Amino acid sequence: MYVAEGAGLAAHQVDVDLRLFVYDCYDDDGVRHVGHVLNPVVEPAAPDGRRLLDAEEGCLSVPGPRVGVHREEKAVVRGLDKEGNEVVIEGSGYFARCLLHETDHLNGLLYTDRLTKRQRRSALREMDDLIEGVFARRVERARSIGAAHRAGPEQPPHPVPPLAVRTGDGAP
Ligand SMILES: [Zn+2]
Repeated sequence: MYVAEGAGLAAHQVDVDLRLFVYDCYDDDGVRHVGHVLNPVVEPAAPDGRRLLDAEEGCLSVPGPRVGVHREEKAVVRGLDKEGNEVVIEGSGYFARCLLHETDHLNGLLYTDRLTKRQRRSALREMDDLIEGVFARRVERARSIGAAHRAGPEQPPHPVPPLAVRTGDGAP
């Protein structure tokens, strides 16, 4: 996830057969949220409290493009932590988008499935154009994160500054 400058990652994106995702994501107030959830279920929003936001979104599994997607402004996800305890994660803004995007992954949906056919074709064409550059950047980033890790445990685990998380190649 950090190599690809992502804000979230679903287990099966890296061939792990679990209904699990991890996140390291800032909300629109600049608060960092780091964690994981197993078997996440999105709680339906109250009909009168629904508010959709249209904001750019990308995906580590669709390297390169960022496309506007309508999502709920707020999200509540229920699930379990790795100890089996029930957890309830509430998010707003970009963090809500991350929670919904990652839960979609575990339900077999990519954000491109929420686009019109024309938008999807355009996004996939853009991915074809950008993918080599994105993968080259990931290789460089893997090297620098590996070097920081070898330098010692005092190195910060997430060297990406907050705003860079949102301008990476495909977060979440
Ligand atoms: Zn994704």
